[in-house]
Amino acid sequence: MYDLTIIGGGILGLATAREFLIKYPNLKLILLEKESTLAFHQSGRNSGVIHSGIYYKPNSLKAKLCVEGAEKMFQYCAENNIPHKKIGKIIVATKESELNNLETIFKNGIANGVKDLALINQEQVSKIEPKCKALRAIHCPHTGIADYKAVCNSMANDIKNKHGEILLNHKVIDLKRIEHAIHLKTDSKMITTENVITCGGAHSDKLAILSGGAKSPKIIPFRGSYLLLKKDAESIVNGLIYPVPDPKFPFLGVHFTPQTDGRVWLGPNAVLAFAIEGYRFSTINIKELLSCLFYPGMIKLMLKYWRTGILELYRDLSKKEFLKSLQKFIPEITLDQCEEGPSGIRAQALNYDGTLVDDFVLETNQPNIFHVRNAPSPAATSSLSIAEMITVKAAKHFEL
Ligand SMILES: Cc1cc2nc3c(=O)[nH]c(=O)nc-3n(C[C@H](O)[C@H](O)[C@H](O)COP(=O)(O)OP(=O)(O)OC[C@H]3O[C@@H](n4cnc5c(N)ncnc54)[C@H](O)[C@@H]3O)c2cc1C
Repeated sequence: MYDLTIIGGGILGLATAREFLIKYPNLKLILLEKESTLAFHQSGRNSGVIHSGIYYKPNSLKAKLCVEGAEKMFQYCAENNIPHKKIGKIIVATKESELNNLETIFKNGIANGVKDLALINQEQVSKIEPKCKALRAIHCPHTGIADYKAVCNSMANDIKNKHGEILLNHKVIDLKRIEHAIHLKTDSKMITTENVITCGGAHSDKLAILSGGAKSPKIIPFRGSYLLLKKDAESIVNGLIYPVPDPKFPFLGVHFTPQTDGRVWLGPNAVLAFAIEGYRFSTINIKELLSCLFYPGMIKLMLKYWRTGILELYRDLSKKEFLKSLQKFIPEITLDQCEEGPSGIRAQALNYDGTLVDDFVLETNQPNIFHVRNAPSPAATSSLSIAEMITVKAAKHFEL
């Protein structure tokens, strides 16, 4: 029998397993992942940004864990020879109507303790990004990029070096408590464990429901697709260029994101995916799609934002429209300089009343079971800090 089983081999499951083994070296721990590789979903299909913590509401869990987590992530990458770089970022307002939100983000950043932020004008922007048009911008020098797949593989090595086990190709399909043990049925074997933590990303709600947890919030999959700059156009930008996000939504808007391998990703947009793991427009799972569309929270969200939804769908289908969002900052970029890129799916929790859940959600209403229900961006950045918090809370919950 295991002392602790962690479900999910994304960055959160891995960081949590690693942290538990640091704090409790004698723990018999196993991590189960349904795919044949680690970081197969969100953790290996994101923008690769180490966020600074500038956006989030002061005093929120997101703000605290991001600011702390970013520092830890830079340090972890440096200590483990993982490709990463502090390349800096500008958040650019191109219209008068965005200036208030830009100001709010700047104030949030200061309140959250993000260092060396500056509000800058077009002349100063040109020194950082010569091709970029701006009315005003925030310069955030402490934002970086990292290879999160490499981070996940390194965390997996840490776990194995501390005698933890990792089983790939093991999807948990049932979870039952029988007396003092929890029996996890995977598609190929049974695992008996005293305690369970689920970090299931887009499946976190299903895993919680399996153990009798709440039906809400439900995870809605929002696909984010990217274009890539062709190799000979990569020098158009130097660092990260972001728009001023619409405060109504938890997504940051289509941006320029240089990667650690030198490629430059453009995106991601945010459209409802037609399957939980529907990485392409053409991937449809009718049962999953209907379950999203008929969820009361989704109906309320669609009634409120149907216009934005349709525009996003149009932008998803029309590369020309997609490009327009980028030409606001870099007018000289053309479709010829771009090629098809990858995509990711955000596991976004949605409440029954139609509100998008902005912060991390942890569920601890069953003994010996701890669910991470919502871990949206910047959970890759914050993973080492979230793992520390989960370890403290879960150990208390499990009476370890
Ligand atoms: C397009 C996009 C861009 C993003 N950009 C950034 C960014 O730049 N910076 C940042 O900090 N964050 C970013 N994020 C957010 C970040 O990637 C996620 O918050 C983070 O990866 C969540 O990690 P996770 O471990 O919770 O989820 P995941 O990585 O999705 O891992 C969950 C794992 O659980 C497994 N699983 C599910 N069900 C079962 C089961 N029944 N049995 C066994 N295994 C199961 C899945 O296969 C999966 O591997 C982005 C996300 C997306 C989608």
